[in-house]
Amino acid sequence: MADPFALGEAERQVRDTVRAFAGAELAPTAAARDESETYDRSLFERMAALGLTGLATAEAHGGAGMGTMASALALEEIAAADMGMAVSLSVHVLAQHCITAFGTAEQQDRFLPPLASGSALGAFALTEPEAGSDAASLALHATADGDGYRLNGTKIWITNGAHADLVVTFATTDRAKGRDGILALVIATDAPGFAVGAHERKMGIRDSVSAELIFDDAQVPVANRLGAEGEGLTVALGGLAVGRIGIAAACVGLARAALEAATAHAVARRQFGRRIADQGAIQTMLADAATSIDAARLLTWRAARLRDSGQPIGTASSMAKLFASDTAMRVATDAVQILGGAGYSRDNPVERFMRDAKGAQIYEGTNQIHRLIIAQQLITEATR
Ligand SMILES: Cc1cc2nc3c(=O)[nH]c(=O)nc-3n(C[C@H](O)[C@H](O)[C@H](O)COP(=O)(O)OP(=O)(O)OC[C@H]3O[C@@H](n4cnc5c(N)ncnc54)[C@H](O)[C@@H]3O)c2cc1C
Repeated sequence: MADPFALGEAERQVRDTVRAFAGAELAPTAAARDESETYDRSLFERMAALGLTGLATAEAHGGAGMGTMASALALEEIAAADMGMAVSLSVHVLAQHCITAFGTAEQQDRFLPPLASGSALGAFALTEPEAGSDAASLALHATADGDGYRLNGTKIWITNGAHADLVVTFATTDRAKGRDGILALVIATDAPGFAVGAHERKMGIRDSVSAELIFDDAQVPVANRLGAEGEGLTVALGGLAVGRIGIAAACVGLARAALEAATAHAVARRQFGRRIADQGAIQTMLADAATSIDAARLLTWRAARLRDSGQPIGTASSMAKLFASDTAMRVATDAVQILGGAGYSRDNPVERFMRDAKGAQIYEGTNQIHRLIIAQQLITEATR
């Protein structure tokens, strides 16, 4: 049987390059950025210089054209050093997926090159105070005005929102129409009427800023609309289906880093005259972690390979995100347990891993919503 973890030469190069970069340039300062809740744009620029901001983007638009698998490999390595930077990059890539899949040739030519090169930072703005899991109920209002729209309302929890140059934003022309009223727009953050509001005071991934966005008669040209009026939710869900593969990959990286820290501690720490690694209770946690991480990576890579071969990914990407984020949460929690009191100290990274992991069970669709998606598919097949 072929090795399911086998990678091509170019893929191995991406993994090894990003591993070296993340170990040298992200890991040493991740705790300090978490502590000070600082987003460091210069690190995004370093990632851009390595080609990571456009890894999956077509070469015609300034990217490397390497696809979702290469992007997943990069995100696993970045997250193993710094989950906040991985989530920030993943959202930047998500914005590009929406434009690639639903933008016209002219829109792709206009928006993708600056995003792929990293000269512009992207964000994805769906969530609102009254619209979270029920995204079809969003209220950001778009009023047709000449050859554009005026937007009024707010978005919350928008990762990269405070620093972004281009935001893929979802609004409604008529809330009573539900999903049929929703449209997707690319808004430049220097547009009149656009402002950044409060920054969320987060539990984890504190070196990526999630912010409120305020639209007060913000002006967007019709030429910036992705798809037709009424297709906005399709754009959002299509983008998220791919974006979740990146989040799943990041969760694999975080879980891997937590397991490495737990294993290193378990072989170094002695109690009752022997290594705690020699205790069955500790071995069970380590073995379960290693097994779940491999399973999460297989689900993630399956979804990435499906996407790169043009096959449907809806359920596969939900399964990957669900299982990988639950794995990250459990492995990070067990790592804190294995380190004991030291694990509960902010002087060790595992407590940060635990805080960072929790968010992944919530964003890009909560894990309850992913279970609904997976179950719905089963039910549809059973009743066909
Ligand atoms: C760190 C972080 C970064 C984020 N970044 C972004 C971003 O960049 N862009 C963006 O648009 N949003 C972003 N979000 C928002 C995120 O997508 C939402 O928080 C998420 O979709 C859940 O919405 P909500 O918080 O309103 O929770 P709710 O939808 O109010 O859900 C609350 C609880 O009810 C459960 N629930 C709701 N409906 C059902 C149901 N039908 N069946 C079972 N359970 C249900 C949920 O699973 C959850 O446990 C981010 C969130 C976080 C935490």
